[in-house]
Amino acid sequence: MSSPFDELIALADLDIEILTLERSRASLPARVALEALAETLGELERAAELLDAERLPLARSLIELEEDVAHLATRKAQIDERLSTATGAGRDLEAMDAEARHLAERTRQLEDAELELMEALEPIEVRLAALGDERQPIDVESERLVAELADEERALDEKLASRRHDRSSVSATIDGALLARYEKLGAGVGGVGAARMLHGRCGGCHLELSAGELDRLNHLPADQIATCDQCDRILVRPVQLDG
Ligand SMILES: [Zn+2]
Repeated sequence: MSSPFDELIALADLDIEILTLERSRASLPARVALEALAETLGELERAAELLDAERLPLARSLIELEEDVAHLATRKAQIDERLSTATGAGRDLEAMDAEARHLAERTRQLEDAELELMEALEPIEVRLAALGDERQPIDVESERLVAELADEERALDEKLASRRHDRSSVSATIDGALLARYEKLGAGVGGVGAARMLHGRCGGCHLELSAGELDRLNHLPADQIATCDQCDRILVRPVQLDG
């Protein structure tokens, strides 16, 4: 390559490639898949939260009932112990016996209530377990995708580093004023300050050049810099390219 415009176009091509690589970072396949999984996980978590809100008060009541039943059992054991060794008056024995029967009755009532609570809890716990089962493979897949994303990013970063290295080599060969102009124009149009003129169009904005403009450009001396009417990029004409 001997023309400065060849170098300029090489720079523009590298900048297009670098921009494309930078943009592809946001849409790497593993990242897209992870985002979709995160959405599914979010739905599962919301469903689990709702079920938990239903489950918690029931579970708390069940614990309270179990404590009450245990308390009654202790009390009844004490009375049974006293009854078995009692030698006192008949009235005391009758009172203790009545209390033992009352405790047994109360225990039965509480145990019925426990059973009802357990029956209410069961379908909720089944659904929670099902949600957990549903979540498990998603967690495994997420973990795999996180590792895959790291690989994809690493590969992309290596490619980017290599292209940026090429870019600095190419830009070092370009005349300072031309390079400065390229960079300034590029900043206004998303990063690429020059484009080929091809088949009567600007390769940057892809708009067709008017016949008059085309004629004017075709008669410009090869060393003169032209810019696109539409996008302002440096328009590199075929006559300016050797390579
Ligand atoms: Zn243009």
